[in-house]
Amino acid sequence: MATLDGLPPLRDVVERFGLDAKKALGQNFLFDLNLTQKIARSAGPLEGVTVFEVGPGPGGLTRAILALGAKKVIAIERDPRALPALAEVETYYPGRLEVIEGDALKTDFAALAAEKAEGGPVKIIANLPYNVGTQLLINWLIPTDGKWPPFWESLTLMFQKEVGLRIVANEDDDHYGRLGVVAGWRTDAHMVFDVPPQAFSPPPKVTSTVVHLTPKASPLPCDVSKLERLTQAAFGQRRKMLRQSIKSLGGETLLAKADIDPQRRAETLSVEEFVRLANCL
Ligand code: SAM
Repeated sequence: MATLDGLPPLRDVVERFGLDAKKALGQNFLFDLNLTQKIARSAGPLEGVTVFEVGPGPGGLTRAILALGAKKVIAIERDPRALPALAEVETYYPGRLEVIEGDALKTDFAALAAEKAEGGPVKIIANLPYNVGTQLLINWLIPTDGKWPPFWESLTLMFQKEVGLRIVANEDDDHYGRLGVVAGWRTDAHMVFDVPPQAFSPPPKVTSTVVHLTPKASPLPCDVSKLERLTQAAFGQRRKMLRQSIKSLGGETLLAKADIDPQRRAETLSVEEFVRLANCL
């Protein structure tokens, strides 16, 4: 059967290289190249862009990113079984795919971007392994080099829908919490489209969603560690009034300093109010 890019169908690739999906590695593969192209397209134009991909697996999304004209894909994959399959893609797109065998959680993306993208634009696109997706997002939102705007121009990431809802949530929304505050503080985030379980092999239990995030050029100034301490305390007891939930951080006195009603609950505070409160810590 012919494919969009002339490479073998992904189902055949998985069979030929014995890539039976491992749950421990969060492996839910996408075989439909129309769908992977749709995901890659939601990252916007890719010409001249160095793309970082986490978990290329058999290469469905990688192939879409390359077909859409990315200058280069740097893919970090933990499962060595995927490397021979990806080597085929590399041969097909000479010089445009570099696969790094390793753990994305231990990867210094900022350093890698400085080395590989040579000052050019960088986008991150991934169908993330669900077990590490949220942590990776936080690592990209709070980069170790402390630089903002960060090394990336956009993040286009597949999450479980429930996580997507938490990322884009605003105040007074049931899904609003620590993730929504940090994402809303530093980025403009929106959900692009849902992907049903049956689009994956094997199908996960829940619907997934693609989230697109772009960095705010100048987020409100705030010390990340203070904001994290505050949101941890406030959302740790989200049903309680703030005077109670953040008592150990200063409670009523702190709230008065920031001119916030002590009877309010965490989920009613906007990102701007959280930042104001953190800045009073
Ligand atoms: N991109 C492929 C696709 O869309 O079909 C595979 C996506 S699958 C949801 C997640 C991939 O991430 C798997 O290939 C898995 O081996 C890889 N992976 C899991 N944990 C990882 C980690 N810590 N670092 C890098 N890759 C990881």
